[in-house]
Amino acid sequence: MSKKKEVNCEELCPEWECTQPSEYSGIWVVGEIDETEETISEPSLQMLTPANYIASKLGVEVEGLLLGYDKELLEKAAHEMIYHGANRVRILTSNKLKPYIAEVYARIISQIVDKYKPEVVFFPATMKGRELAPYVANTLRAGITADCTQFDVDEKTGDVLMIRPPFAAILLAYIKTPTRRPQIGTARPNVFPKPPRDASRKGEILWEDEKEYKIPRPRTRLVRVEYMKREEIPIEKAEYIVSGGRGVGTLEGFKMLEELAELLGGVVAGSRKAVDLGLIPHDKQVGQTGKAVKAKLYIAVGISGAAQHVVGIRECRVVVAINKDPDAPIFKHADYGIVGDWREIVTELIKALRERTKKAS
Ligand SMILES: Cc1cc2nc3c(=O)[nH]c(=O)nc-3n(C[C@H](O)[C@H](O)[C@H](O)COP(=O)(O)OP(=O)(O)OC[C@H]3O[C@@H](n4cnc5c(N)ncnc54)[C@H](O)[C@@H]3O)c2cc1C
Repeated sequence: MSKKKEVNCEELCPEWECTQPSEYSGIWVVGEIDETEETISEPSLQMLTPANYIASKLGVEVEGLLLGYDKELLEKAAHEMIYHGANRVRILTSNKLKPYIAEVYARIISQIVDKYKPEVVFFPATMKGRELAPYVANTLRAGITADCTQFDVDEKTGDVLMIRPPFAAILLAYIKTPTRRPQIGTARPNVFPKPPRDASRKGEILWEDEKEYKIPRPRTRLVRVEYMKREEIPIEKAEYIVSGGRGVGTLEGFKMLEELAELLGGVVAGSRKAVDLGLIPHDKQVGQTGKAVKAKLYIAVGISGAAQHVVGIRECRVVVAINKDPDAPIFKHADYGIVGDWREIVTELIKALRERTKKAS
């Protein structure tokens, strides 16, 4: 595959330094630490799946980048990245990186990327990734595509294709950055599966010297951190999900879904239409502008199956759709389909599960 293309610097913005794509090589994943779990975050490991796919197509290696202040924790996180497919991991630790301030982290990432010149940088589209990635892209004058659902390579040019559903359309946009490097992309948690863990994998851990970088003084001050109490499992971590759409129609209807979810040991979620109707909070919305989920069982009740919804359920193991319309698109994405009025079907399911629980106790 040709990666040696040269760009004509005269055709580019004269105010931007002109670098050639051929000066860049390798695929990077910027990892983040999940501070409550004290380990590398799941979405960071998931980004190693597309990173390895693109790296194998381009014949290059995958590298992780970790920043922070807790050396031991970062080293543990680096090993996890290696066990999940990174060839090496670069770490920068400094007391000046405590606490996490997006501007400071983004400026350091930009300096490290500018020094080593990877051709692609992936960030998980978590709360942190979503603020870091555009900051880095802007600092480096690089292209960025957020919330990708697939990545591929343009066979002719070697440019990475960042693939995502565009706004308000049932098609996929293939976006590439032909002249600028690095090519930056993000994907939401659970859009890609985590690669299998292999604790026998070996890889290099490289410690960056903080003296080589300008760590800026933050212009914002963290006043305090408050952890929100969660009584329920968040939908992105739930194994059993009963999800309602506009077809469910009312809050009473959602109460029935809650009952079913409880009997299954799961949680309730919903479509964007259900959120718009005030039937469910936004943090329980599944889909392109909500969350991607990876449940063992996803029951879609009164959901039509719009592209923006189904993009959030493709990592679910078993999808059951309940809809009164036999032609509803959701059936194309379901392993089992039940055509009928949801009230009758959910009532029967609740009855059957109650009986099973009674027998078991
Ligand atoms: C930029 C953009 C981003 C978006 N992001 C998201 C997103 O993240 N998540 C998301 O979900 N959507 C998203 N949408 C909206 C999406 O396009 C759809 O409009 C939405 O998913 C439809 O929700 P729904 O299936 O609940 O409602 P509808 O499409 O109205 O479907 C309702 C379904 O219920 C069925 N039904 C009705 N009554 C019954 C009954 N009694 N029993 C059984 N079935 C019944 C109907 O047959 C129908 O299929 C987005 C749209 C845009 C433009």
